[in-house]
Amino acid sequence: MSDIPTGHISIDELENVQITIGKIVGAIEKKAMEEGVVVGPTPKPGISDLRDWDYKLLSRYQPVYTPVCDQCCYCTFGKCDLGGNKEGACGINMEAHQARETLLRVITGAAAHAGHGRHILHHLIGIYGHDKPIDVGPSNLLAPNTQAVTGIKPETLGDLEEVMDYVEEQLTQLLATIHAGQEGAAMDFESKILHGGMLDHVGMEVSDLAQVSCMGMPKSDPEAPLVEIGMGCIDSSKPVLLVIGHNVAGVTNIMDYIHDHGLEDKMELAGLCCTAIDMTRYQMDKGGKPHAKVIGTLAKELKMIRSGVPDVIVVDEQCVRADVLDEAKKLSIPVITTNEKIMYGLRNRSKDSPAEIIEDLASGKEAGALILNFDVLGEVAPELAIKMSKIRDEMGIKALPSEEELRELSAKCVQCGACEMDCPDNLPIMEAMKTGAEGDYTKFEYLHDMCIACGRCDQACPKDIPVLNMIEKASQKLIREEKGLMRAGRGQVSDPEIRQEGVNLVLGTTPGIIAMVGCSNYPSGTKDLYTVADEMLKRNYIVVMSGCSAMDLGMYKNEDGETLYEKYPAKFLAGNLINVGSCVSNSHITGTAIKVAAIFAQRQVSGNYEEIADYITNRIGAVGVAWGAYSQKAASIASGCNRLGIPVVVGPHGSKYRRALIGKPYEEEHWKVYDARDGSEMPIPASPEFLLTTAESIEELFPMLAKNCIRPSDNNMGRMIKLTHYMELSQKYLGHMPEDWYKFVRTETDLPLAKREELLKMLEKDHGWEIDWKRKKILSGPTMKSDVSAQPTNVKRLCKGEC
Ligand code: SF4
Ligand code: SF4
Ligand code: SF4
Repeated sequence: MSDIPTGHISIDELENVQITIGKIVGAIEKKAMEEGVVVGPTPKPGISDLRDWDYKLLSRYQPVYTPVCDQCCYCTFGKCDLGGNKEGACGINMEAHQARETLLRVITGAAAHAGHGRHILHHLIGIYGHDKPIDVGPSNLLAPNTQAVTGIKPETLGDLEEVMDYVEEQLTQLLATIHAGQEGAAMDFESKILHGGMLDHVGMEVSDLAQVSCMGMPKSDPEAPLVEIGMGCIDSSKPVLLVIGHNVAGVTNIMDYIHDHGLEDKMELAGLCCTAIDMTRYQMDKGGKPHAKVIGTLAKELKMIRSGVPDVIVVDEQCVRADVLDEAKKLSIPVITTNEKIMYGLRNRSKDSPAEIIEDLASGKEAGALILNFDVLGEVAPELAIKMSKIRDEMGIKALPSEEELRELSAKCVQCGACEMDCPDNLPIMEAMKTGAEGDYTKFEYLHDMCIACGRCDQACPKDIPVLNMIEKASQKLIREEKGLMRAGRGQVSDPEIRQEGVNLVLGTTPGIIAMVGCSNYPSGTKDLYTVADEMLKRNYIVVMSGCSAMDLGMYKNEDGETLYEKYPAKFLAGNLINVGSCVSNSHITGTAIKVAAIFAQRQVSGNYEEIADYITNRIGAVGVAWGAYSQKAASIASGCNRLGIPVVVGPHGSKYRRALIGKPYEEEHWKVYDARDGSEMPIPASPEFLLTTAESIEELFPMLAKNCIRPSDNNMGRMIKLTHYMELSQKYLGHMPEDWYKFVRTETDLPLAKREELLKMLEKDHGWEIDWKRKKILSGPTMKSDVSAQPTNVKRLCKGEC
């Protein structure tokens, strides 16, 4: 922040004066913030308020529907066959219904985050009061999503309640539109999807702001500690308490109890999914070593339970398997549910004494308990784990088959293929069974990394072979070596970081942000994440991680035994690797883009969503990757990115979300914007080419990432850098030059320097461009001009003379 005094600067007097000296801008911004900023045209937008913006996006990025099912069975008129775009009994057609289905997923995801946000906010206000200040690091723009959407500049926990009121009201209205006999137009469902996505990022932001402020989580900290991760990190000779879910509220009581009673070294506290990430952020704002360990993602849930290692399982909410209680029961592991969203039919013991609950669970009288009182939970969970560890040892519980049984079970296989048919990734189970019968279990090891532990193979097998248990047993050696490091979630990107890096991003000299987010439903194992992140980091992209992807990235090491979190620094700078945190920290990724518009480009942020989104669309090279997207939350997170013009690529399973948003690069009129300097039309590159699409393999993904970071605002150096990566990645992974590379060339200075002559020849020969060979200059051919002072916008009212 600037140290220039701000007292004598009047914002009114500065109207129409553009000051671009960083320090002064900082001072003005601070003052404006302090004085309460003017609010833009759409504070707390309703469903229709940003519809014009959505229609602009959707006219360029048109929905492509891929129905998973031809029928609708929403109401008692149905079920209706909508195949061939037929209408249902209510008049809705296939396209609109598919869009409705997508909307349902998106608002389900948004509600999951908003529900989380409301819960944690309520919980923290109960402890710290309404006036507890929001404190998330060295930033004035504390809540970019919240501020851009609602116009509210929250300063305390109490302020966040009004934000949640708005989000909940809008989500209710959106849910109402799913009802039969409401919306009939696919395009308006699409606009509602974008609205739901935008709300999602506000709900996520509230969740993370509240917990970072109150729970001592790292605050924009590039030095956030490294955390042990992997099934191999657990010392199973100690009592093991396993936590699964997303909402860390109750877990902090467990952590406090463990700390206060000196139990840290006497037991293992491990987590799965986002709760695990947030556990390792707890009380880490002053450094230190996190006590909790991270097992990994959703894909490890059943594997971890079936390993028999946990002595007690605590679940909270989201992405928790529905069969945790049944699976745990088989191995005498008591289950404690702690959140009304998952209660598994268990008796509510919230008002009972810890001793009574421990007694009932340890004796096996009850398989688990619902405990909504976190003080009770804090004591019961660790004490029960200590007790159960002894009891379970004495019971001699055997979780996985012995080596001998492995061979016998393999021999039982009749090679019918039912397991492979049901496996979501068609994994080669039969082959592993065949070699397993001969005593060679190496093929099971291959399955271990690919397998998402869904358990469908077990159910499909007519011979009752416990396929998953066999995979896990055969992979014990591998599992023991599963030890990685993940940098704890660092929270927001700070304002000073934006000041430093914003210009490079907008000019393209930092080639872009690759945000790798979402779940673990990968098409071919977890290592793909490492490969993608490493390649892009080497090329100086900023790689931002969150959620399950952030965990899986830490599971691999290079030849020097280093994880990427150790290899690359964690500032918001070119070539740095950032873990923002759990799923709700995804709001900081969109928040970063909003901050670039607000801080670097001085755009008014409050209630000014359209202008901010327009800025981001045209100037910030960023692509989201949800390679293992599985959840409804992943759909809502992507939709929230999309409304800001940030494209997202999902892995092959993402096609089951039923629709993509894809542009047509060959339709020239779709790739025109206004130049805000005079309102004239200007052509722009066809990038991003999509807002939501699927890639089949990482080979296909690489050039997509580089290409879709290209933006109209790139200067020549920036475009040259981006083009270089696009061409190189295409050649490296697809074996050929991209066909459309020349479409991004405005002048010879956009061309990669080392290959300039060769590329000029290609432009002349293959595309008929006129070249001045003496000066090595392009004389004619490009459809776009290079003009860094151009002000590309999709919004006519932002042009000079229009407002
Ligand atoms: S909502 Fe419409 S399409 Fe769906 S079942 Fe009812 S009548 Fe049929
Ligand atoms: S548990 Fe693993 S191997 Fe079995 S069906 Fe699921 S993904 Fe396939
Ligand atoms: S379903 Fe069972 S019997 Fe059939 S191939 Fe798979 S493991 Fe073998």
